[in-house]
Amino acid sequence: MVTTELTVRAPAKINLHLGVGAPRPDGFHPLVTVYQAVGLYDDLTVRAAPGWALGVDLPDWMPAGVVPTGGANIVDRAAALLAEHHGVVRSGEVHVAKAIPVAGGMAGGSADAAAALVALDRLWGLHTPDDEMLALAAQLGSDVPFALLGGTALGTGRGELVEPVTDRGTWWWVVVPAETGLSTPSVYRHFDEMFPDAPAEPVPADALLRALAEGDPWALADALHNDLEAPAVDLRPELGELIERGEAAGALRGIVSGSGPTCVFLCGSADHARALAADLTDPAHPVVLAANGPVAGAHLVSYA
Ligand code: ATP
Repeated sequence: MVTTELTVRAPAKINLHLGVGAPRPDGFHPLVTVYQAVGLYDDLTVRAAPGWALGVDLPDWMPAGVVPTGGANIVDRAAALLAEHHGVVRSGEVHVAKAIPVAGGMAGGSADAAAALVALDRLWGLHTPDDEMLALAAQLGSDVPFALLGGTALGTGRGELVEPVTDRGTWWWVVVPAETGLSTPSVYRHFDEMFPDAPAEPVPADALLRALAEGDPWALADALHNDLEAPAVDLRPELGELIERGEAAGALRGIVSGSGPTCVFLCGSADHARALAADLTDPAHPVVLAANGPVAGAHLVSYA
């Protein structure tokens, strides 16, 4: 059967550990990070068509225009890269249904890029081997290989070198997006200003990896670590207040997700997460989500 339409679902990520070193000569910061894929997803649907078209649907709570629909969309770049790699002509009608907060430190764009690689590989009948998919993903962005892999993984290099790690938990998170995003480069620039003597080698993730292997939520709460939290909170002091509020309301721990401004709160159970999400919902945070992790990376959910 020839596939003419299919949908691939790709998850948001949070960084359970984000150790950042001093910038390398190529300008990238070396990272030691532990990613976890959590159950907040963008869905990307592709249909066979002679030309190339890309549309984006946003939920009501996202401001219009935050996601580019033309060549600046990472999906457009992913399609061009895959087509060029195989020497085929890019074709198809693509629709992205966003649910991952944009510019929120949850790698929503990277999720869409990974979904596009998986979907178009299948639509175009390319059968790209996994190692080539990961290499193409790394060319698109540091977080894109993890969006393919999913689960819980250690990321090194600039985050693009990923390997799965032992994770014995099912963890519950409350996710609080901000109405206005923070640009990842600006948070890294502020990190450089605040920490001009940052070590070349990022802080290792040993304590965090032990907590995951034990499956103990309190140990995980203690071990969560984000070197970008201080610059993100310095740029947006209200994030610090939100974290204090979440912890006072019973979260085991609150932390900025990646470069922020989304904050995530570790909870002891699904019920705990739902109750905390209700507590944190207010006019400044009208959308508060509960999500579990780890979940699968970009995967096919339907085809015809
Ligand atoms: P990261 O943590 O990987 O830096 P992020 O979660 O902070 O990413 P994204 O949601 O990936 O940020 O978006 C960053 C910027 O990329 C947006 O401001 C937007 O203009 C642009 N962009 C391009 N394509 C997409 C896409 N498909 N979805 C979301 N943003 C996109």
